[in-house]
Amino acid sequence: MNNENGAAMPARVSLRRCENYSPEEVAPCVKALFDEIGFSGDEVKGKRVVIKPNLVRKMDIESAGTTNPAIVEAVARLCFSMGAESVTIAESPAGAYTESSISASYKVGRMSDVAEASGALLNFDLGASRVPSRGADKNRTFNIIDPIINADVVINVCKLKTHNLTGMSGAVKNFFGVIPGTEKLEMHALYPNLTDFSAMICDLCRTVCTLSPVVNVIDSVIAMEGNGPTNGSPKKLGFIGASRDPFALDEVCSEIISMKGRVSVCEEAKKRGFLPDIELVGVSPSELVCENFKLPDSSDKAHSGITVLSKLFGGRLMESLRPRPVIDKEKCIGCGECKRSCPAKTIVMKNKRAYVKKKDCIKCFCCQELCPKDAVKVKKNPLLVFARFFT
Ligand code: SF4
Ligand code: SF4
Repeated sequence: MNNENGAAMPARVSLRRCENYSPEEVAPCVKALFDEIGFSGDEVKGKRVVIKPNLVRKMDIESAGTTNPAIVEAVARLCFSMGAESVTIAESPAGAYTESSISASYKVGRMSDVAEASGALLNFDLGASRVPSRGADKNRTFNIIDPIINADVVINVCKLKTHNLTGMSGAVKNFFGVIPGTEKLEMHALYPNLTDFSAMICDLCRTVCTLSPVVNVIDSVIAMEGNGPTNGSPKKLGFIGASRDPFALDEVCSEIISMKGRVSVCEEAKKRGFLPDIELVGVSPSELVCENFKLPDSSDKAHSGITVLSKLFGGRLMESLRPRPVIDKEKCIGCGECKRSCPAKTIVMKNKRAYVKKKDCIKCFCCQELCPKDAVKVKKNPLLVFARFFT
């Protein structure tokens, strides 16, 4: 955003304490956040608002892997009170993008309850349209689900989580859920290198943000620590954040969970000049910092180990040293979900158990994200143990 002299204005990031998911806590918190980032009725009145939650896959809300319905409901009610013509909840979770699969995600993620209570609609339009990329570095076009394309306003209500591939999932990564269903796997296959994948996610985020006005709200009341985005543990952080700029919001949140400098999409955004100056309002991030937040197994000290070795031997080493998935044979039930979700087609079933052929693995961790039994573990390269002595 520019001021009247054409100079870039800092992006405002607002943080507010929110102790629990009761409507009495959440509703005034969301209202205050909208006021503080200057999101008013003028922008909503008579408009078709689309809320994009994070429903990643069918997960109970207690697991903290999905956006809590209380926040989606508060946003929907507020939009109606501001005069929205319609409010639609739309998401393309991992796996197939079919009426039955999104219906199941809405039900388990309690979006069906939100719709019933607030008057919001659930999206079942399975169409998608190709639009030119506005980042234009990695991808020339993106195929984006139609409700996002046709929205007058998009409210990106994401979840603060660790992520074994990108380090953290927040506002920027949540936009990957506008790509229809299994096309997300094709994108992983197209960009097997983490830097390229992160650049593509940054392009996608910029593209969605230029289709219509976007407001980002992050659910950090109960975040996910450890092996996110689906196999971590709930961790209370007790706040909700909002910003019109997804890159600014993620940068602030990465600091709160002690992951600043370790989130690949944030680092890529900085490299490419996408991260604006930040103006903080509300509670200071320093008051919310969680020093004992558990990082994903793929990050941890391993990150600094990789950095040291890649400085010693060159950046290409980074890719070969990245942690890889291994199957816990005790936990695996042989359902084959990982095999179906593997973009590199490098998982085979043997004796009713999954097995990863490591040669072709691109280390995207889609298998871990989709495994319903937490049977996909992260194996670090032993060289990193050596590298830690130098960090
Ligand atoms: S998804 Fe998990 S439980 Fe199912 S086959 Fe793969 S590793 Fe085993
Ligand atoms: S085995 Fe897992 S990490 Fe490797 S390419 Fe397949 S889905 Fe990605």
